[in-house]
Amino acid sequence: MTQTTHARKINPKIFATAQNIKEFGNETRHIEFHFAPGTRFEFTAGQFITVFYPHDGRVTKRPYSIASAPSSGDHIDLCIKLVEGGAVTHWLWHMKGGEEIQIQGPYGKFILPEEIDFEPVFVATGTGIAPFRSMIHTLLENGFRKDFSLLFGVRFDNAIPYENEWRALEKRYPNFKYIPTVSRSTPEWKGEKGYAQALIGKYFREPKRRRVYICGLNDMIQAVKQVCLDLGYAADQIFHERYD
Ligand SMILES: Cc1cc2nc3c(=O)[nH]c(=O)nc-3n(C[C@H](O)[C@H](O)[C@H](O)COP(=O)(O)OP(=O)(O)OC[C@H]3O[C@@H](n4cnc5c(N)ncnc54)[C@H](O)[C@@H]3O)c2cc1C
Repeated sequence: MTQTTHARKINPKIFATAQNIKEFGNETRHIEFHFAPGTRFEFTAGQFITVFYPHDGRVTKRPYSIASAPSSGDHIDLCIKLVEGGAVTHWLWHMKGGEEIQIQGPYGKFILPEEIDFEPVFVATGTGIAPFRSMIHTLLENGFRKDFSLLFGVRFDNAIPYENEWRALEKRYPNFKYIPTVSRSTPEWKGEKGYAQALIGKYFREPKRRRVYICGLNDMIQAVKQVCLDLGYAADQIFHERYD
């Protein structure tokens, strides 16, 4: 299976307008940033952008993974967690449709190789889902046929980012498996409970043919990595993007 995936050259700073803002519970938000007609923002699934936050006569920059597939063309999606006391997330959190921001990118090497001769296992917690949403849609658009999985750790079962989308993709594509796991579940939750790292041995015990891609906060990344190494995965079968 060949993907058109390689890190792109960095575009100049451009303006983008917030649209279609959606909330997943009280602390995670999806925002689409649309470009002016005729502007194309080229990137590879898994890459991130820099957001520029102008305030008090200065500019603060933060990186955010692109949560949409490159095929979206006229816009990119971001999936933002509201961080307590966080300067940029508070600004993005109070943003309304129609507001303009400046971004630059793409950056980063957390991308899939051109030739995917393995079964990808994507492990995310919280907004670590962003690069995988871009990769998963891109794989499926390109007719990827091998088995692949998303193990998604969240705190609350009533606010899983893009839950309906994952369920619909799993129904439509038999080679895609979605495994949500909830650390603070309600009594109604019938799925997996607890942390993502605790489920690696249950679903992905066999390292053969697999590669594990992990995204989120560093404690989780290290825990997942350690479980994989203990199961016999080689270090070069494990890739990560850390947010903190
Ligand atoms: C490559 C890359 C991609 C990223 N992609 C995303 C993304 O898609 N979505 C997203 O929400 N964030 C993402 N981040 C994190 C983001 O860049 C910011 O660090 C985060 O949004 C906090 O910014 P802030 O200005 O609000 O908080 P700050 O004022 O910078 O930080 C406040 C405090 O919160 C801590 N903190 C930072 N991030 C988190 C977090 N996620 N959870 C808990 N505590 C945190 C910081 O260590 C600091 O102590 C990414 C980071 C990197 C390096």
